[in-house]
Amino acid sequence: MNRISLLFVALVLSACATVREPAGITFVHLNDTYRVGAVEDGNAGGFSRVVTLVRELQEEGRDVRILHGGDFLYPSLESQLWNGLQIVDAFNFMDAVAPMYAVSGNHEFDRRGPEQLIAAVRASEFDWLGDNYAFRTGAADVDEALRRAFTFEAAGRKVGVFALTLHPDDGGNERDYLEYNGNYAAVAEDTIKALEAKGVDLLIGVTHLHIWQDVELAGLKAKYPKLAFIVGGHEHEPEYSAGDSGNAAVMKGASNARIVWAIDVDFDAAGVARLNERKLTLDRSVAFDPEYEVLASKWRGRLLEKFPFLEARVGTAALPLDSREVTVRNQESNWGNFIADQMRGAFRDGKADLAFVNGGTLRIDDYIEGDILFEDIGRTFGFSSYLRKTMLTGAEFRRVLEAGYRGEGPSKGYFPQVSGFRVCIDRSRNSGDRIVSLQVPAEEGWQEISADIEYSVVVPDYLYRGGDGYDIPKDRPVTPPGSELKYLVLDAILAAQARGEMIGAAVSPDNPRFYELRESNERCFSAAP
Ligand SMILES: [Zn+2]
Repeated sequence: MNRISLLFVALVLSACATVREPAGITFVHLNDTYRVGAVEDGNAGGFSRVVTLVRELQEEGRDVRILHGGDFLYPSLESQLWNGLQIVDAFNFMDAVAPMYAVSGNHEFDRRGPEQLIAAVRASEFDWLGDNYAFRTGAADVDEALRRAFTFEAAGRKVGVFALTLHPDDGGNERDYLEYNGNYAAVAEDTIKALEAKGVDLLIGVTHLHIWQDVELAGLKAKYPKLAFIVGGHEHEPEYSAGDSGNAAVMKGASNARIVWAIDVDFDAAGVARLNERKLTLDRSVAFDPEYEVLASKWRGRLLEKFPFLEARVGTAALPLDSREVTVRNQESNWGNFIADQMRGAFRDGKADLAFVNGGTLRIDDYIEGDILFEDIGRTFGFSSYLRKTMLTGAEFRRVLEAGYRGEGPSKGYFPQVSGFRVCIDRSRNSGDRIVSLQVPAEEGWQEISADIEYSVVVPDYLYRGGDGYDIPKDRPVTPPGSELKYLVLDAILAAQARGEMIGAAVSPDNPRFYELRESNERCFSAAP
């Protein structure tokens, strides 16, 4: 809303203030936020725009509460320096504008020890919620700070929240300083009973689960009609499941607040909650909040102090390099191709035959366009990733790679970005048996990989050690972990820059590295119908 219409609304509101209905509650929901500032060169998302939205809703007379579906302390370039305290600072700012409640995501527990979590919770002014997990950090004040069966008053109503996060069996982090209960439905129901005993007017869920788990939990509304909605995180693109008399609405936003939800809850004369949920794209049409920008500049300044070369141009993108999570975790990415290509040349004794990297290693969740900055490399590699080279037969390699295409549903961190081969899969087949064709270059064109021939293979050490479900044979010659991927990619870009070459090539529809069969009569690597 621009200033003139805001002024108009303010005038209308003051003119009819005496007859106005009591204001309702508006929940603003976001999830999976790793940046203090906006993304896409400042054109999308960011907390600054969230603050603007919250203030506008408040000016309309709404009682605004901010909900967060988890994943915020890690991983990011900044969290390598400050362990998420920069995000806590931003959350505290938002909490001062409108009370904020957050559930932990799996990434809040990226660190092996509890020290960084203790510091983050102690610095937090917003509330940490959790009903199916507990902190066992050894710091009593921190362990007690996690709120269970949490209630709050808003717009004269009592609201109760259940909060759930992923169990290690589903992708949560197993840590000595945590205790989990993986029976989400039972915990949700127990919590709802406890909340109803407290006399709540409205029930909501804030979760960090897979979307199908949220949709299942939404069915609790049939038994507990006050359950209005469940908002969640973990997926980085928006999700929505409409509510009805037997199911609560389910919503997730896009990462880094590119898309958020505004959920109006108003009560009718009978005390029944009426929901109006709106999916809002926070783009250039939403202004930055000047007060928040002071905080954002402070952290930007600190980052540039630590990395003075952050804004240095290291190369030029030939086309927009697509490193959004929705791409690198589901399909062939031009940025993933470039990175996997460099991996094959990581060791001095000749170029390896094959290489792959899990999409989850590429963290920037953004396009890289025009100038490639050192910052783009830093944000792509949120963790240090060292490489190993080993030897596998074609049959072994095929079996290893099957892990990349297992499971159901979209966006898998283990989905591979590949080089030196092309692969065709059929997801209608069982996990572990989905590769229909795996081909390597022949003298002319391509040929199926030979089951008995040994190929040199480069992978990140994390995958070699069994990370992301890849089971790589350990009884073969293998290099020690070397060649950090971040610097390998940086060197390649600088070398291209020196040669006057640009980075990246379009994913070719005629010659794809990854091909997924969609129709039963379709053939591998035939152009899509
Ligand atoms: Zn997550």
